[in-house]
Amino acid sequence: MVDLDTWFSHPSHPLVMAGPCSVESEVQLNATVEGLSRIPQVGLLRGGVWKPRTRPDAFEGTGEAGLSWLKEAGKAAGLPVATEVATPAHLELAMRYGIDALWIGARTVVNPFSVQQLAEAMRGVDIPVFIKNPVSPDVKLWVGAFERFSKVGLKRLAGIHRGFHYYKESPYRNFPMWEIPIELKRQLDVPVITDISHICGRRDLLQRVAQLSVDLAFDGLMVECHVDPDAALTDAQQQITPSALSALLEALAPRSKQTGGHSQVLSALRGEIDDVDDELLQLLARRMEIATRIGAFKKQAGMTVVQMDRWKAILSDHIALGKALGLDPELVQSVFEAIHQASIRRQSDLFDEA
Ligand code: PEP
Ligand code: MN
Repeated sequence: MVDLDTWFSHPSHPLVMAGPCSVESEVQLNATVEGLSRIPQVGLLRGGVWKPRTRPDAFEGTGEAGLSWLKEAGKAAGLPVATEVATPAHLELAMRYGIDALWIGARTVVNPFSVQQLAEAMRGVDIPVFIKNPVSPDVKLWVGAFERFSKVGLKRLAGIHRGFHYYKESPYRNFPMWEIPIELKRQLDVPVITDISHICGRRDLLQRVAQLSVDLAFDGLMVECHVDPDAALTDAQQQITPSALSALLEALAPRSKQTGGHSQVLSALRGEIDDVDDELLQLLARRMEIATRIGAFKKQAGMTVVQMDRWKAILSDHIALGKALGLDPELVQSVFEAIHQASIRRQSDLFDEA
């Protein structure tokens, strides 16, 4: 088990935060925590007492009563406890009951007014705060929440990646878009744990996403656990029993976060990749230069910047060629969409000039 303070300064051992989506009753909580206390990897207990629900009249949590059960259960298990706070009033109660760590929910992080109010209320309070990503894939908004808490003096801040609302069909409840939490870590150098439960929304995907989180060098997991998942009052399809969590953690293949500077094979391969990237950049610059010349021609000829038929034909040809080369069509499409957009911007700028 990793100690919370140690983890914040050296998140080399993954932190596992586990517990029910909602604290429902003392019996449900104690039975769940009892199971979790036998899992050595679990370092922090979670339990929601104020639940942000999509529709009114759903179970909205036990409120204050749940806080005292949570604290007691943590003491019995010898583990720190965390809950979600969304308002200064929640915060005050959580502090009164000695809750050890807090998390800010995805629906709260989308609202800078709420985040600012919470941050003001935390001025001078020294407590670890986990900040979930906003439901929309907006890294700046997530960074902004970190900045607001950091400005009032909070030092122990971490992210929770819980996936994003997504407009396309997907097997996930919330699409992972791993590049966003990776970008957050690049910009802020904070530890980030992966909330596999809210990403997956269903049990059969949890193991795979947990492994991906390890493979991508994230710093731990949040997992919703319930003594009787099917009977849970919230998020029943994604919760697992403590023994299922234990099996999931045991089955994870560990990965080293070392950069591998000592391995000659890896260094050689990295060198090759760097060369290919150089070539790609030079080719991109050449392509952009040609696009500029085409833009000048179109302007003189009185043509439009966007020629939709030509763009559709290029894209489908490239996807077909990419397929023949073993490349994922989605990759080819997104790369060429980005390149095409940049060309359009360059050509429009040219049209704008007198
Ligand atoms: C939760 O962790 O219980 C929760 C409400 O999650 P999110 O804010 O990610 O939706
Ligand atoms: Mn939940």
